[in-house]
Amino acid sequence: RAKSDGQGSYRFFEAAMDEKMRSCRKLEIDLRRALSLREFSLVYQPQVSLHTSAVSGFEALLRWQCPTRGAVSPLDFIPLAEQTGVITSIGEWVLRTACREAASWPNDHSIAVNVSGVQFAHPNLVKVVMSALAESGLAPQRLELEITESVMLDDQGQSLTVLNNLRSLGVRMALDDFGTGYSSLGYLRRFSFDKIKIDQSFVRGTAHDPAGQAIVRAISSLGQSLGMKTVAEGVETREQFDRVVADGCTDVQGYLISRPLPAGQIASFLDDGIPQL
Ligand code: C2E
Ligand code: MG
Ligand code: MG
Ligand code: MG
Repeated sequence: RAKSDGQGSYRFFEAAMDEKMRSCRKLEIDLRRALSLREFSLVYQPQVSLHTSAVSGFEALLRWQCPTRGAVSPLDFIPLAEQTGVITSIGEWVLRTACREAASWPNDHSIAVNVSGVQFAHPNLVKVVMSALAESGLAPQRLELEITESVMLDDQGQSLTVLNNLRSLGVRMALDDFGTGYSSLGYLRRFSFDKIKIDQSFVRGTAHDPAGQAIVRAISSLGQSLGMKTVAEGVETREQFDRVVADGCTDVQGYLISRPLPAGQIASFLDDGIPQL
């Protein structure tokens, strides 16, 4: 009996794996199609400088409106896009589109683009960035690339070369979701970043979470000593805002300031001015 149960659950496991593989394969096909059918778009979320109380830049965030699935979150399709390599062409589209759209904004705010580990390891990245800048006419100083700690893990020598090549174009680098990865603080010495983005989990936990607040404070002070900006991500309430200001963050991003906006709303958002903080 035990044996047949075992086989039964094995068959069930096999069937579940088959089903999972089929749905992944289908998602991959849909993703490849999405690019040519123009189902992707970018929305832009403002960042505010606490020093000037003005918008300092925007982060480009990818949106997929699939005709059959509806709106799909990047959290749900980026991992598969990375596994299958589709991320390379999607990422290239994101870079070119973000540079082109930002070049037409009324002010010269910076534009941050998320770059996945797979893209970062791809030998073409520097060329793609150069060509996105050239064809859009965007000043390299306005472009900021966000990478996560895990991106640097694979091949540190190679990562350092790519990072330095990008920086020598004049492009700025931000370390995204800081505190959630596996890197050591030594990375901050080895790789030079312009900005640290403090992960939302530390920012939002802070109300009854002295540990989270201590971490935000420590990262801010580290950033200050190293000459890097520190952005608090995911600030949703006035209370969280006051706290990250007190903790020494230099910039804030989150729903309290604004949700990510379609390109067409940027000009009027900048006209209206940010909510009184
Ligand atoms: P991320 O780069 O850390 O982006 C911040 C995420 O937090 C965004 O989610 C943003 O909409 C959300 N967010 C901002 N403020 C708040 C807030 O106050 N409260 C809450 N609850 N959420 C807030 P989104 O757009 O769903 O993107 C999720 C992740 O997907 C991004 O995290 C990034 O890792 C990835 N991603 C998005 N666009 C791209 C892209 O073009 N390329 C790559 N490689 N990854 C992307
Ligand atoms: Mg980001
Ligand atoms: Mg982040
Ligand atoms: Mg993230």
